[in-house]
Parts: sequence; structure tokens; C-alpha cells
Amino acid sequence: MVNRLLIAWGNGVSRRNNRGFDPPSRDLYMPLMAIREIISLPDPRLRLVSKAVETITPEVRALAEDMLETMYDAPGIGLAAIQVAQPLRLITMDLAKKEEEPAPRVFINPEILSSSEELSVYEEGCLSIPEYYEEVERPALVRVRFMDLEGKIHEEDAEGLYATCIQHEIDHLNGVLFIDYLSKLKREMVVKKFKKAAKLAAK
Ligand SMILES: [Zn+2]
Repeated sequence: MVNRLLIAWGNGVSRRNNRGFDPPSRDLYMPLMAIREIISLPDPRLRLVSKAVETITPEVRALAEDMLETMYDAPGIGLAAIQVAQPLRLITMDLAKKEEEPAPRVFINPEILSSSEELSVYEEGCLSIPEYYEEVERPALVRVRFMDLEGKIHEEDAEGLYATCIQHEIDHLNGVLFIDYLSKLKREMVVKKFKKAAKLAAK
């Protein structure tokens, strides 16, 4: 189901010829989408502030498609471009429940316009901090503005899981991780654990 929908997303845009000299026909022999590597803690790139998307180029579309595929493969419900090492203000999300049809969404240059005083708590996880979950308190309702892949500007009220997810992902664009909301002790323990694991993996 997911695959069928994702294939429908493929629009034949030029994707792998960003080296500039590949003939366009080469794309015919390339897969439509690719799963990209998700970077994880303690990769310093997760702390970068991502740049606004100025123009929706074929590369930006390809990135969004790859991010959706990467997100579904992980699997996860939200992904920010920096998590696949692209410091651009681009987010993908799908909050559909398992039994529902997939509902892929792309948010370009998203921003929070206002937040409720009312807070809600969700247990959050992050594809860049695998297998670690903690409760985080955030505004229960936010108004968000973003652009879609057609360049159309949207404004929406987000609540529930949508509110939490969009705040978590926008945080990524500013180099903020959900562990930053935890106590210093908890955060340092997680970071230490991941640093240790990275060291072992590098051996
Ligand atoms: Zn995350």
C-alpha cells in the first residue's frame, strides 16, 4: 500500500543527475526513489540550523520523495531533512494509523505562528536517537504556516499528535532535539550512551 502510493509520487523528475553532466535519459535507468541514511546522535550535523528552501527544484522534490521513503522504511511518522544530512527546512510526515490509508505530507519552510498555553505530554522518540523514548511536554495546539511542493502556502491549526510532531520536526530544523527538554542528567546519559555506541561501531 505504501509502495503503491509512493510510486504514484514519482513524477519522473530528474533526480540523480545533480553532477550536471548526466544525460536526462539516464534517469530512465535509475530507481525513482532511494532510501537515504539517517544520521544519529552524536552526529554534530543534528545541531545545525537548516536553511530555508528558496526554490522548489527537482532536487528538492527528489529529497522530499526520498525522505518519505526513508521515513516509511525506518519506520517513523516524521522526518526532517537534516536527519538525512540535508540542512534544508523540509519535513515529511505521515500520521495515518496502521489501518488507515497512508497520508504522506511535505512541509517546506514550516513555522509556528502561535502556540497555546495549554500543554500536552507525549512519549517521543526520534529516528536519530533510536530506541529511546521519553515523555515531553509541549504546547497542545499550534498554528503552523508552511509551503507545499507546489509552492502553495498553507496555514493550519495542529493539535494532538500533529501538534507534537510538527514541533518536534521544526525543532530539528533549528538544531534542537527532544532530549533537550529532558533533565540535564537524563540528556547526558543518553548522549554518553550514543557516543559509546558510535565509538564501538567505529572500531
Ligand atoms: Zn526527531
